[in-house]
Amino acid sequence: PKPVVAIVGRPNVGKSTLFNRLTGARVAIVEDTPGVTRDRLYRDAEWRGRQFTLVDTGGIAARPDDPLVAQVRRQAEQALAEADVILFVVDTRTGLTADDEEVAELLRRSGRPVILVANKVEDFSDPSLTHEFYRLGLGDPLPVSAIHGLNVGDLLDRVVDLL
Ligand code: GDP
Ligand code: MG
Repeated sequence: PKPVVAIVGRPNVGKSTLFNRLTGARVAIVEDTPGVTRDRLYRDAEWRGRQFTLVDTGGIAARPDDPLVAQVRRQAEQALAEADVILFVVDTRTGLTADDEEVAELLRRSGRPVILVANKVEDFSDPSLTHEFYRLGLGDPLPVSAIHGLNVGDLLDRVVDLL
């Protein structure tokens, strides 16, 4: 089986945008069920001859009546159970939140390799955009713009280094 790379993070940080960018998928996949359109969860990807399966955990069903942080935690736990590498996505536009810190703690405790992806950076001349994320204790945040594909090659280099 191919190694599994899971994308984890709060809603709206850009997980699905990154998933689509890394896999070259269209924005949404139409399910077989009529009238149902939603993001696909698993898709194979390849970089520099290394193949892996990417997972968008935002699509993993969580209990809808759970508080938001519990849903994100549940999705992250499920990802940890199967992933070889975790891409933890944070949002430089909203900045660091308490939910980010809670998920970061879970990821740190797992001991699994984590790449801290600081998304929505469209201005690479401004280091202050990513600075606060050092506090998560997950190493250097890697600035990217999933929507514009900026620095995504560097991200993929880091991913395949960990496989
Ligand atoms: P998810 O809930 O984590 O899967 O987030 P989505 O991928 O659905 O993205 C949430 C919102 O952030 C959408 O409006 C995206 O267009 C926007 N977004 C995603 N990536 C970027 C980015 O790199 N830059 C900017 N400016 N917006 C982004
Ligand atoms: Mg999503």
